[in-house]
Amino acid sequence: MHLVLGLVGEAGEIAEKVKKLVRDKHSDVAQLDRDDMAAELGDVLWYSAVLANFLDLSLNDVAQRNVDKLADRQRRNALGGSGDNR
Ligand SMILES: [Mg+2]
Repeated sequence: MHLVLGLVGEAGEIAEKVKKLVRDKHSDVAQLDRDDMAAELGDVLWYSAVLANFLDLSLNDVAQRNVDKLADRQRRNALGGSGDNR
């Protein structure tokens, strides 16, 4: 359970930085601190890897599965819209 909360917390840290960019810097992406974002993305990646390991999943397989899913949607012109299984 703490792994999921850690993952969501780190994703929230990214959202918080982007919120402040929108609120205080007119959404100017050039003003986003790339080093801070890299650190937070690393935290997300860490929790993702540890959670995958806990669930006995290969992070490589998880990533490849997602690439395959998105490539399939692109082939079917279904990248837009919503729904997990489109
Ligand atoms: Mg963090």
